[in-house]
Amino acid sequence: MTTAPTPTDGTPQVLLAHHLKLLKLPTFLREYDKVARECAADRVDHPRFLLRLAELELLHRERRVVERRIREARFPAVKSLDTFDFLAIARLNKMLVLELARCEYILRRENVIALGNSGTGKTHAALALGLAACQRGFSVGFTTAAALVHQLMEARDERRLLKLQNQLAAYKLLIIDELGYVPLTATGAELLFEVFSRRYERASTIVTSNLPFDEWTSVFGSERLTGALLDRLTHHVHILEFNGDSYRLKQSTVRERRAIYPAGDSIAAGRSDTAADLTIDRETGEILDT
Ligand code: ADP
Ligand code: MG
Repeated sequence: MTTAPTPTDGTPQVLLAHHLKLLKLPTFLREYDKVARECAADRVDHPRFLLRLAELELLHRERRVVERRIREARFPAVKSLDTFDFLAIARLNKMLVLELARCEYILRRENVIALGNSGTGKTHAALALGLAACQRGFSVGFTTAAALVHQLMEARDERRLLKLQNQLAAYKLLIIDELGYVPLTATGAELLFEVFSRRYERASTIVTSNLPFDEWTSVFGSERLTGALLDRLTHHVHILEFNGDSYRLKQSTVRERRAIYPAGDSIAAGRSDTAADLTIDRETGEILDT
């Protein structure tokens, strides 16, 4: 082991900075002067001074760990439920999504499947649940089904499949986005099956798909394999239904209308095509009979 040379001729501050760096206490180092002045002004004693610094160090350390988990999850974008408009997707069970964001399903090793047509917010919700999991201390991996199969095939060709399968099995939460956009080869389907199989009852998986279950055979090719996979995946599962209008399409329609009819125009403010026409329970997201 190599140790950094110890400065011998410095003032106490120089030595302290050196020691705190070695001890990996960057927040102590950055804050001790300011906190010391605050504590002197407030007539706070030494144990409380040290306590304040220790609390700051822990807080920043936890924040750095969360940031690292988010980087390691490889999210294509960081999205949260704060920016998710539940009113735009009336069918979605808002209470269930909020409950899932508490991450207890991860402790119970349950799965989540988000089904619905394109542009309805499945990836957004999956990313938000992934972020919530990172914030609560779980290791998360995010990938698309196509990228994952590609990765698995490559690993197999390079004889490091076992290592990759072990890595994939170790995530507390694995998010597999966009299952169903591309049909898989027989080998691809088997490799993907292996991922699900190894995670079954050991850790949580979130899958998003544009296909209803009865069409999954068209992705996996074999009815036997699809049956076995659905059996494992849906044994302990929460299903989120996203069927509705595409949010992207709706947003571009709104933008287009704004361009054509400036604000204040009665047609621009019209409510002809969206969920705004419905009366929706803001808590549950349920459509109410009026
Ligand atoms: P999907 O995965 O179902 O195809 P996405 O999650 O990619 O859809 O959504 C498409 C875009 O619309 C994204 O930028 C997403 O953030 C946004 N979006 C979709 N639904 C909502 C919603 N209910 N509230 C806010 N943004 C949404
Ligand atoms: Mg998507």
